[in-house]
Amino acid sequence: MGSVTAAPTAPDPEDERFMRRAIAEAERALGHDDVPIGAVVVHGGEVVGAGHNERELRQDPTAHAEIIALRAAADALGSWRVLDSTLYVTLEPCAMCAGAIVLARVPRVVYGCADPKAGAAGSVLDVLSEPRLNHRPEVTGGVLARQCARRRCTAAITGSSAARST
Ligand code: ZN
Repeated sequence: MGSVTAAPTAPDPEDERFMRRAIAEAERALGHDDVPIGAVVVHGGEVVGAGHNERELRQDPTAHAEIIALRAAADALGSWRVLDSTLYVTLEPCAMCAGAIVLARVPRVVYGCADPKAGAAGSVLDVLSEPRLNHRPEVTGGVLARQCARRRCTAAITGSSAARST
């Protein structure tokens, strides 16, 4: 619990399957010129919440993929506690999203590539493993990282840094 484990040499095919769903979700953000980041919440083997970055679309600084996916999952489960679930996201969560993941008591987080500029699963901060908080999800990073980094995560990192500098 609470520590980031690198993707194993033989990655979990289930993790890769749902990461592909998150990548597909990320592509939808390109339709409205948002940085392509996607997330899905899986409960009982099924996607119960999905979201992609809609910051530009909504002009909402909080419209990150994970927040949208968590809201949908909480709605589907009828509870703010998103228990017995795994959140998959193409890019390491930021501080806001990591905070929301902790508040929602999500037991497990799987992300694609690291975000050295804003990641809060160990890159800049480590909100997900903070021992003083009352919930620490299990974290797996680097799932399909190459596929993510090839196009989408690189764009995401470049995009987010460009957005911050303006
Ligand atoms: Zn975020």
